Amino acid sequence: MLTEVLPPSEETINKAAEILQNGGLIGLPTETVYGLGCDARNAQACLSVFAAKGRPADNPLIVHISNLSMLSDIVSEIPSKAKILMDAFWPGPLTIIMPKCDKIPKEATANLDTVAVRFPVHPVAMAIIEKAGLPVAAPSANLSGRPSTTTAEHVFRDLNGKIPLIVDGGACQVGLESTVVDATKENIVLLRPGGITREMLEEALGEPVALGKGVMEPLKDGEKALSPGLLHKHYAPKAEVKVILGEESKRCAFIREEAKNCARPCVLCMEQNRENFEGIPVLSAGNTPEEYAHNLFAALRQADDLGYTQVFAEGLDLSGVGLAVMNRVERAAGFHVITL
Ligand code: AMP
Ligand code: MG
Repeated sequence: MLTEVLPPSEETINKAAEILQNGGLIGLPTETVYGLGCDARNAQACLSVFAAKGRPADNPLIVHISNLSMLSDIVSEIPSKAKILMDAFWPGPLTIIMPKCDKIPKEATANLDTVAVRFPVHPVAMAIIEKAGLPVAAPSANLSGRPSTTTAEHVFRDLNGKIPLIVDGGACQVGLESTVVDATKENIVLLRPGGITREMLEEALGEPVALGKGVMEPLKDGEKALSPGLLHKHYAPKAEVKVILGEESKRCAFIREEAKNCARPCVLCMEQNRENFEGIPVLSAGNTPEEYAHNLFAALRQADDLGYTQVFAEGLDLSGVGLAVMNRVERAAGFHVITL
């Protein structure tokens, strides 16, 4: 199959909508990462998303909408706390898990009777969903296990020949996947941190928000994940990744020493720390935690492109978007975290 990469003209959006209506798959930009979209109501189309990505069958898809009236064909109920979060953060990078209604097939939700829903704010994503007139099931548009895709070029590299169209909307603003919360219990539980931070959720709800089990630590043998996606190794480049936490001077000394024993090491660090790593190639995480989020997946892919075999990634503290960055980078490292 020929994979076209096209700018988001009206013609491209019409073409994307038509592919979705006919049960096909497209790569589309959102504010978080690029998605691999299909008609969420079409069981066969959902199965082909799993096949194209090599996604484990137990990892459900997120269903994307472009207006609130679409919800009634997706969820059987809108819990009151979900409504508060929708009012505060939709459209935007927040996914809310609610009880599913029958029009969404079990193929979309990996047999769960709940469904994850998101209303993206990206104008191209909105335009495609609106034009197609259907809910779009879309996981990140990477091959399963690889870093998520934050540019059309990344999608092309992972899915060339497997899908007919990638709509190129430029680099994604947030750079990490959406925040995922479970709204099916009495209290909201944070299952995947993202651009909408835990602090922002707590402020909107006026109460503390618990972190789901397995979100910031590996699950123990036999423990059941609240979100099936937490079970799988994620976001990993081919290079080995180690996350280094602790006092800055110790961290720098440790990395400089360790790097001597590596064939092709590199450091993923904040711009202001670059000068501490003379002689070691640096992948820039930018100047702020938000920039680290934006740069992370592209940097992990770049490490492979440049042939580095070892990435020493600087850790962040867990406030604000730091929680989301650490959630991703610790998984990329297979939870290989060194605290000095
Ligand atoms: P991705 O599509 O790659 O952004 O991953 C979607 C994430 O949402 C995965 O971590 C899934 O496990 C999670 N997810 C989607 N639907 C549900 C659901 N019904 N219950 C719990 N987690 C879900
Ligand atoms: Mg993903």
